[in-house]
Amino acid sequence: MRSLVDAQREVLAAMTKLPAASAPLGECLGLVLADDVVAPHAVPPFANSGMDGFAVRAVDVSSVPVTLTVVEDLPAGSVARSVVAAGTAIKIMTGAPMPQGADAVVIVEDSESREAGKVTLLTPANSGDHVRRAGGDVECGATVLTAGTRINPMHLGLLASVGAGEPLVVARPTVAVLSTGDELVSVEAPALRPGAIHDSNRPMLIGLLTELGVEVLDLGIVPDDARLLRSVLGEAASNADAVLTSGGVSMGEYDLVKQVLTELGRVDFWKVAMQPAKPFAFGFLGDTPLFGLPGNPVSVMVAFEQFVRPALLARMGAARLFRRRSVAVLNTSITTNPAKTVFVRVRVEYGPKGMTVAPSGGQGSNVLSALAAADAFAVVPVGAGEVAAGATVELEWFRSPEVRTREEVLGG
Ligand code: AMP
Ligand code: MG
Repeated sequence: MRSLVDAQREVLAAMTKLPAASAPLGECLGLVLADDVVAPHAVPPFANSGMDGFAVRAVDVSSVPVTLTVVEDLPAGSVARSVVAAGTAIKIMTGAPMPQGADAVVIVEDSESREAGKVTLLTPANSGDHVRRAGGDVECGATVLTAGTRINPMHLGLLASVGAGEPLVVARPTVAVLSTGDELVSVEAPALRPGAIHDSNRPMLIGLLTELGVEVLDLGIVPDDARLLRSVLGEAASNADAVLTSGGVSMGEYDLVKQVLTELGRVDFWKVAMQPAKPFAFGFLGDTPLFGLPGNPVSVMVAFEQFVRPALLARMGAARLFRRRSVAVLNTSITTNPAKTVFVRVRVEYGPKGMTVAPSGGQGSNVLSALAAADAFAVVPVGAGEVAAGATVELEWFRSPEVRTREEVLGG
């Protein structure tokens, strides 16, 4: 039996980064920067007004009220034709470049316009008031994002603000997925025959992969038939950057998947000291990493989270591979196997004393309903065994759901 961290270490050590290429910014969400991004210009690129008002020389507005001559109207996107000279002002909109001569903006709420072409300012101005300086957000030449950053929507905005329209990103992996087992029937099929169950692993894995932002190659269900399995795995290995199978890797069963994997590639069959997801196969079909996930759906999801997701992120070039963890108080006592790292599926509740967690339902590795009701894993380390109600547990979040109803937020 190997420890979880040893198994994770071994998987990650075998991962190579995919090649990098420039891509249009619109296609970069979820991909990873292959290089630092340096701002070729400042943001904002020029000093501009932070408010609608009047661009003035602060010295002209040191004692108020004072009436100035308005020499121009300046919308955002235009450059002033005139200079703000003594005794004058330019009416300016938010975002318009500061005119030459002006060093402050008096907001429109602090002015009165009784006479055409004039404005009376009611509050004194200091140099720099309501002026957003060039480079106040990003200085020219600054590194805005570093290599290894996985691009989120806010990063897309930041990259656009510095004109990075085609950043260098690591390629999006293609990941092949197939389910194995004679008992499996696709959910699209009209009905279950006696002894059959629906293939739930594949839709779940495709969802997890889609959320991760990789390309999915769905190879369907492969029955327990060596010839078929050989041909589908061969196709998977030559067309994908990683292959995920589920089923057929546990001990003491009909070892067809094992036999075919062993014959096609260099694949090891592991027992990892974790629960669920103890049986796990890992290796290569040619140059393509192969993850042989267990059959039970909860084990599949846990193995995906602990091995596949970090490994794919490593192939994608990400600097950070593992999910957020935080601590929470346990509502009820739980008993776990002290020889294993146990991933208890828990539901998070928010009360007056902060966040608490409780198991979201049955903890069998086939109980998908409790996994679907969970927000996080409570990760109980080797050696812990029983954890008492009121004790603190470490959480690993795998969802960021909407939890507050309209009534809770806005009232009845
Ligand atoms: P196995 O390791 O292939 O014996 O599978 C272990 C358990 O997981 C068995 O009860 C299988 O029926 C079940 N199982 C395997 N693959 C799937 C799947 N794709 N969807 C749902 N259950 C599965
Ligand atoms: Mg099977």
